[in-house]
Amino acid sequence: MDPYQKVARLLLEHKNISAFTGAGISAESGIPTFRDPGGLWDQFDPDEFGTTGGIIQAALKKPSLIRNFLLQMLDIFEKARPNPGHHGLKSLEDLGLLKTIITQNIDHLHQEAGSSTVIEVHGSLFRGRCLNCGRRQQLNKAELLVRARQFLADEKNFEVGKLVELLPRCPVCNGISRPDVVMFGEPVLQLAEAIAVAEQSDLMLVLGTSGVVYPAAALPCQAYEHNAKIIEINPTGNYYDSISECYIDSPAGAAMPKIIGLLKDLL
Ligand code: NAD
Repeated sequence: MDPYQKVARLLLEHKNISAFTGAGISAESGIPTFRDPGGLWDQFDPDEFGTTGGIIQAALKKPSLIRNFLLQMLDIFEKARPNPGHHGLKSLEDLGLLKTIITQNIDHLHQEAGSSTVIEVHGSLFRGRCLNCGRRQQLNKAELLVRARQFLADEKNFEVGKLVELLPRCPVCNGISRPDVVMFGEPVLQLAEAIAVAEQSDLMLVLGTSGVVYPAAALPCQAYEHNAKIIEINPTGNYYDSISECYIDSPAGAAMPKIIGLLKDLL
């Protein structure tokens, strides 16, 4: 059977459907993945720029490199909007089919697409966590990007030490709030909730992940062990080959509208 037809039928036959997403679902929004060639991560080693120590080291040794990195990140996030992959998952929720998205992404694009239940196991770039009291606060993305743009504009007077001024203050204790993202080596967030969702799922859509960052990468296996069927959508490989019921070899932004179209015909 055509894999798209099969996925549409599977979606209609199951009741507890979740989605597990990775960097690939945001690739069509212009945010580079870690493992695909080209772009930001060819210039900046994710092993270095993905750890707090690595960033501090780079900032101290080569401030201009950090400024360049932040400017490129800013360009990317100013332009990034949800794409048909994100909107497709929101449509699945609207059709009453999708309950929860577990994402490894930190870009907030599922929420911007309107998805209501999103577990961000690697945190969010647009949420702060107070270094003093631990309180979390949702940040105004547009405001944050404008402040960062103004801060980075002045190349001559750029000082790494002043980067701290960009960080928001905690509304409760006035401590410095760091971006609430999980760097390599730090514990993932909401893991118990994510495992519970995986174990309760009878079907899990896996989109845009190479499945190498643990423990999050184990969630589809945990769902499968609790009898969920796994559907994988990825244009470069069937990374969960041994547990997949169905694999669609396509970018998520092309596959999701086709699946939604078929579902609407079947409903
Ligand atoms: P990854 O970079 O390891 O893998 C991305 C996968 O997506 C690859 O297998 C690739 O083939 C696939 N892909 C590329 N384009 C696609 C598309 N249009 N549709 C569907 N799939 C596509 O990403 P990962 O597995 O998520 O692990 C990397 C870690 O880095 C994650 O923990 C994540 O937190 C972080 N990260 C996040 C973002 C983001 O927030 N957007 C971006 C880069 C990295």
